[in-house]
Amino acid sequence: MTRLSRAYPLCLSQIGNEWSGYYTDVNNTSQFSGTIVSGRGITLVNFLQTTTSNDYYAVHAGKLVRSHTIKGHWYDTAGNSGAFTLERDPILAQSDLTQSNLTQSIDNARERAIASHFPISVDPTTPVPPTAGVITVDDANQNGRTAFDCPSSTSDISGSEIFGIVEGTVQEPRVTYLERSRPATPELLVAANPVEPTEIFRFVGSCLETGCQQFDNGQCQLAKRIVQGLPVVTQTLPSCVIRHRCRWWHQEGEAACRRCLQIARTHYAPSAILRRSLTD
Ligand code: SF4
Repeated sequence: MTRLSRAYPLCLSQIGNEWSGYYTDVNNTSQFSGTIVSGRGITLVNFLQTTTSNDYYAVHAGKLVRSHTIKGHWYDTAGNSGAFTLERDPILAQSDLTQSNLTQSIDNARERAIASHFPISVDPTTPVPPTAGVITVDDANQNGRTAFDCPSSTSDISGSEIFGIVEGTVQEPRVTYLERSRPATPELLVAANPVEPTEIFRFVGSCLETGCQQFDNGQCQLAKRIVQGLPVVTQTLPSCVIRHRCRWWHQEGEAACRRCLQIARTHYAPSAILRRSLTD
């Protein structure tokens, strides 16, 4: 958004006619929320900027003037006012071309996850634990930043993002890595319905280190078990946008990446080897 000749990056999400958002890279905890109204060929928007301390408000009212561009005026409680322009990030706008691929991947992943709730043949003497494969983290230290990020995080961790979608089959889940990580917006999370987001998305979030039951002796024991227990499923290193900050990569190197794409954080019908490796 541009106001008073300065550009401010925002992340805005729309659900129905409501939208909400926040600043992405300025030290400002303001929240944005508003409404979109369409009729007679015109789309109007209004949105409010508020701060957590409730000492600042700004009201914006604008109109969609062309695809991805809203222009309007704003007023705030500090006595400022002016014109604003809200434009979609050109990179995001281009990625509309691949939006159908993203939607298709989510559909595939959802189908796989639903099927895994009803495995075709399960040995009745060894029932599949409903949470087998789930990696549980302690909520303590949720907002703490550590040196590396966990590539098997959840949307509950502050600032977590989606970097992969778990497609493939019930027997052989396979992660499709996204070209860029995406904020875990309500829209994307809702797309997982009726399964849990962690069944179809791979989230990256701050590694909780000692706040996580998987962390011991200064290392992620889960990453170790994956490397020691799971087969290599690719000889080519996946093109993964979070490698520079991935705990598993920094700890286990390429061995982790060659096994990573068979991991779903929540898996209701893991293979025996997956179950053993993730839960032992
Ligand atoms: S282990 Fe490798 S492929 Fe998996 S998330 Fe980390 S860097 Fe990406």
